[in-house]
Amino acid sequence: MMADLADMTQERIERLALCQQRFGQAKQKPEAPEATGYCLNCGDPIADMRRWCDSECRDEWEHIDAALRRRGL
Ligand SMILES: [Zn+2]
Repeated sequence: MMADLADMTQERIERLALCQQRFGQAKQKPEAPEATGYCLNCGDPIADMRRWCDSECRDEWEHIDAALRRRGL
């Protein structure tokens, strides 16, 4: 599980870093990014103003967000 996550995390980190730069989320409030109508992790549209489509996406995003912080993003 963790090994698989590490493998795909690198790609996600690059993509999320671009997203955060584009939306300026990293500058605003890294602890609590705004809901955009799309899952912050997988990009699926979300009807209500949640930030992730499910708890798995939230957990994965938090894992990636922690990795981004370690890189100073
Ligand atoms: Zn999702």
